[in-house]
Amino acid sequence: MITDLIDVHAPAIDLQGLVKSFGDNEVLKGIDLTVTAGEVVCIIGPSGSGKSTLLRSVNLLEEPTGGKVLIEGIDITDPDVDIDRVRTRIGMVFQSFNLFPHLDVMGNLMIAQQRVKKRSKAEAAKIAHEMLGRVGLAEKADAFPGHLSGGQQQRVAIARALCMNPDMMLFDEPTSALDPELVGEVLQVMRSLADEGMTMLVVTHEMGFAREVGSRLIFMDGGHIVEEGDPREVIGNPQHPRTQDFLSRVL
Ligand code: ADP
Ligand code: MG
Repeated sequence: MITDLIDVHAPAIDLQGLVKSFGDNEVLKGIDLTVTAGEVVCIIGPSGSGKSTLLRSVNLLEEPTGGKVLIEGIDITDPDVDIDRVRTRIGMVFQSFNLFPHLDVMGNLMIAQQRVKKRSKAEAAKIAHEMLGRVGLAEKADAFPGHLSGGQQQRVAIARALCMNPDMMLFDEPTSALDPELVGEVLQVMRSLADEGMTMLVVTHEMGFAREVGSRLIFMDGGHIVEEGDPREVIGNPQHPRTQDFLSRVL
């Protein structure tokens, strides 16, 4: 089976000439991006520049119009590849937390473990408790999402993704829907994940996080990677006029 042939030396994520169009609207215009295991790559850019489409292309939530997406050396645009198996290695966290409102926290953390990973109830519960502890919410196991703050819900969403033991995590503006006072607790969880060596691709407006936690910062505009580099360099000394303009408005 082709998906068993994981190349441990391959990059975690390797986008090669990625193009995505919606009808006549070419949203990604040939993106080349290689993410090495353990890297934290932050993506910034104006609304509509293609950041979410890029992230969603990494696990084929969007089907590329052209180019290739390689995950750990496997070309997932190859129709023979079992995309569901590759997807289990990629955790994704969205702006809207997407928890099941009718399930308590444990239920939310266990359901995919049991259905997708085929874990026993006991094993799924053990891992759920472990991951809930990791995001600092051990005492909320029996709470329902509606009774949690936005920051707590997003931490549960991160724990839920971690329960699948992903090799990498994709975050699409994970703090954008939160009240300002709740942003910090989510960024703290993300920072600890980064410190533990998780490979992360993070679309964010949090420039402090990008500067301090990111190993690389990418500025996207109009479906292109316009500029990339060390976050401190890009933020402190942007080279491209469009990066300069964008940063002058967000900083
Ligand atoms: P960003 O996340 O940077 O704000 P997006 O990737 O969400 O940008 O969107 C980039 C462009 O692609 C926008 O013009 C948006 O309208 C378009 N787009 C995104 N998703 C779809 C879709 N499912 N169908 C049609 N157009 C889309
Ligand atoms: Mg977006």
